[in-house]
Amino acid sequence: MTKSPRRRCKICREWFNPRFPNEWWCSPEHGTEYALMLRQKEMLKQEQQRKKEAQQERRHHQIRKLEVKPLSYFHSKAQAAFNQFIRIRDAEQPCISCGRHHEGKYDAGHYRTRGASPATRYDETNCHKQCVPCNQHLSGNIENYTPNLIERIGQEAFDVLMGPHPVKKWTREELEELAARYRKKTRELIKQREQQ
Ligand SMILES: [Zn+2]
Ligand SMILES: [Zn+2]
Repeated sequence: MTKSPRRRCKICREWFNPRFPNEWWCSPEHGTEYALMLRQKEMLKQEQQRKKEAQQERRHHQIRKLEVKPLSYFHSKAQAAFNQFIRIRDAEQPCISCGRHHEGKYDAGHYRTRGASPATRYDETNCHKQCVPCNQHLSGNIENYTPNLIERIGQEAFDVLMGPHPVKKWTREELEELAARYRKKTRELIKQREQQ
């Protein structure tokens, strides 16, 4: 039997002459230590694997949860992100209908309602900062909204907004994408203004 070449102990890094091909330690003590080290490594690996599996399981669970949600859930998420953007975009503007700069609450008021014109519910020309009294108590205060809207977006954009529009069928993916896009636009707008 040929003598194995010298190797370094895995624990103390000293050179030694192994007696067996699988001996990687210079002494029984370092042999024990090395075995413990390997075991700890193995346990750590298993722990990481368990964590990864648990994370994947949670992700699949979330996807399943979204799969059973109705389309209206995705619309409300998208509309919230879109409306938030409109309020931030128009932060310096008065109410589109009554022209007041008042201290009260503001909505994102649609000119063409979501019910009557679903195709324009995420159209930026169709939605502007509006005070709560005009939006909620005067049904949008449309007679004043109309001239102010034309002044703000121009006659041409107004005519485009008035349509006709092809029927739009939204998918969950489109709505999720739209919500993410508007959250990003809002963040970018806030950041841009902070830098001014
Ligand atoms: Zn050693
Ligand atoms: Zn108003």
